[in-house]
Amino acid sequence: MVDDPKSALVQLKEYELCRYCLARQAGYAGKRRVDKCHICRGLFDKLDEIAEKALAAAGQYQFDTFLVGATLPTQLFEREDALRARLKIRGKESIKSQLTRELGQRLARMTGKRVDFSRPDLTVNVAIDREGNVDAVARARPIALQGRYTKKIRGLPQKRERCPMCEGKGCSLCDNTGFYGNNSVEGILAKHIVKATGGQSPRFSWVGSEDQNSLVLGSGRPFYVKISDPRARILKKKRFSEAGVTATITGALDDLPDTQARFAVRTKIACACSRPVAQDDIARLKSLAGKEAKFASRSKVASKKIHSAQGKETGDSEFTLTIKADGGLPIKQFVGGEEYMEPNVSALFGAKCECVTFDILSVEIQGSA
Ligand SMILES: [Zn+2]
Ligand SMILES: [Zn+2]
Repeated sequence: MVDDPKSALVQLKEYELCRYCLARQAGYAGKRRVDKCHICRGLFDKLDEIAEKALAAAGQYQFDTFLVGATLPTQLFEREDALRARLKIRGKESIKSQLTRELGQRLARMTGKRVDFSRPDLTVNVAIDREGNVDAVARARPIALQGRYTKKIRGLPQKRERCPMCEGKGCSLCDNTGFYGNNSVEGILAKHIVKATGGQSPRFSWVGSEDQNSLVLGSGRPFYVKISDPRARILKKKRFSEAGVTATITGALDDLPDTQARFAVRTKIACACSRPVAQDDIARLKSLAGKEAKFASRSKVASKKIHSAQGKETGDSEFTLTIKADGGLPIKQFVGGEEYMEPNVSALFGAKCECVTFDILSVEIQGSA
């Protein structure tokens, strides 16, 4: 391509171009007023009006940084390309980057917020159709939160099945929670977190799991949650309570942790034995401390350390076992001896024992997370 500025500039004058469209070709703006710009057909005359629409779209969001994107009709690019080809000029920049920069500057002035190209809190996309109609849509970068919950009633499952309508994406049936009904810890947390952030589609990552009949006591079980398109990035309400579940949001993260945290759990297990329990049995439970419990897990052998174990007789053939163990130890199998669990309580007693309920006393995250 030959870039001969002199002859190109002479030829440029044959075109009626607004100062923006001229600047993209020539590198200077000029002062000429035009009725109908050959390239943008008046688009750049409407910058303030477009910026107002972008502002309205951004208005419902809390953000510090933003980025403006644009979708423009192809005819605009075609007219500019044709002009550049005919004049054999490369041009200084694209119409899209000029438009989004101009809008970004205006929006920054109007809101007092900063443009950020790499990780904006908010992206505002301006769509302009062939007729010059303007539409602006804003979308916030997801936020990730960490928190803990306690559960003081039995019979509430930890996890919830997806909403059958939207399969977890969020829809009007499920109030954008992605879950149908709120009858689970996950459903309750989802409802309150969606309400507090104004976002949708919360995705949870749990530090361990419990049975629906388990209580979660102490400082509670840690969890992480990622929320799409949040209106609020800083929560005013960080603690909520419903149906025996109390959750506290303890911090914000860049994203959900990509590796499962190592953790240890103190669990109080209510057990029933097929024969009367003797003091000897109770004393023997202590021998579980320090052992590695091995069991079949997804056709592999998993191993979880038992850090401490303490028994207490609670009836003729009933007792409680309080253990602290690595997270992920299947409690029912540890008592019953299924999944080739070794050691297990039934083998220790030489009689079939069964976990009736188990309650989570504490969950400690080990290491960094
Ligand atoms: Zn123009
Ligand atoms: Zn739904």
